Amino acid sequence: MVLSCRNIRKVFGDHVVLDDLSLDVGEHEVVALIGASGSGKSTLLRCVNLLAEIDDGTIHLDGDEITDPRVNPDLVRQRIGLVFQSYNLFPHMTVLDNITLAPTRVHKRAAAEARETAMAWLGRVGLADKAKAYPDRLSGGQQQRVAIVRALVNNPRLLLLDEVTSALDPELVGEVLSMIRDLKGEGMTMVLATHEMGFAKQVADRVAFLDAGRVLEQGPPEQVLGDPTEARTRQFLARII
Ligand code: ADP
Ligand code: MG
Repeated sequence: MVLSCRNIRKVFGDHVVLDDLSLDVGEHEVVALIGASGSGKSTLLRCVNLLAEIDDGTIHLDGDEITDPRVNPDLVRQRIGLVFQSYNLFPHMTVLDNITLAPTRVHKRAAAEARETAMAWLGRVGLADKAKAYPDRLSGGQQQRVAIVRALVNNPRLLLLDEVTSALDPELVGEVLSMIRDLKGEGMTMVLATHEMGFAKQVADRVAFLDAGRVLEQGPPEQVLGDPTEARTRQFLARII
């Protein structure tokens, strides 16, 4: 397993947000997290990236327990990329500087090597000509693709995508989804929270439906989206489709 979440509990005050949640993700697997707003999708992704601390349970990455308090979170985050809904590029820095900031400053990797990797990725996603541009010269879709490239330059074992198309105008969604599809084609292991059921159906190997901080049901997209077992899943799908 690349990722193994075991009996995770996360509370905010007296609100149980993740409740005995377990989820495994195998190598090259793409898992789509679906569920109502507030069901815990973002919290789960943040816990996996150690941006939020779990109250109980364990998370393993490639067999290493990353929730062990002795683990350095910065080292874990080099192995896990996370991209949020809003792309959060630094406006005063060029595309290339945005991408190479983390590898050169945080991970002390040689700047030249970081630039080379960044340019290679930009070329692969058709954005090489934007390397010297500032984010405000790019469309929302291009900015989000740059944010994904920024998460890829460390060669992560796992890429977490949290509603990465939700803030985009509808006509810009396609280019980001197509990039994610390409990453799947290259074997990237991904967990993505999404409201795009059509996309989940196309790209996910497995869909996990979160309800009140638990994985209520999971399985192949055709089954979970087309013929769900649980009444709660059916209700959710009826509301959003
Ligand atoms: P989703 O991404 O599925 O919409 P979230 O993980 O964002 O769900 O939120 C799950 C629940 O946790 C919500 O009720 C939300 O209000 C609560 N929550 C999330 N982050 C915090 C926080 N930092 N402090 C308090 N409550 C939070
Ligand atoms: Mg969310």
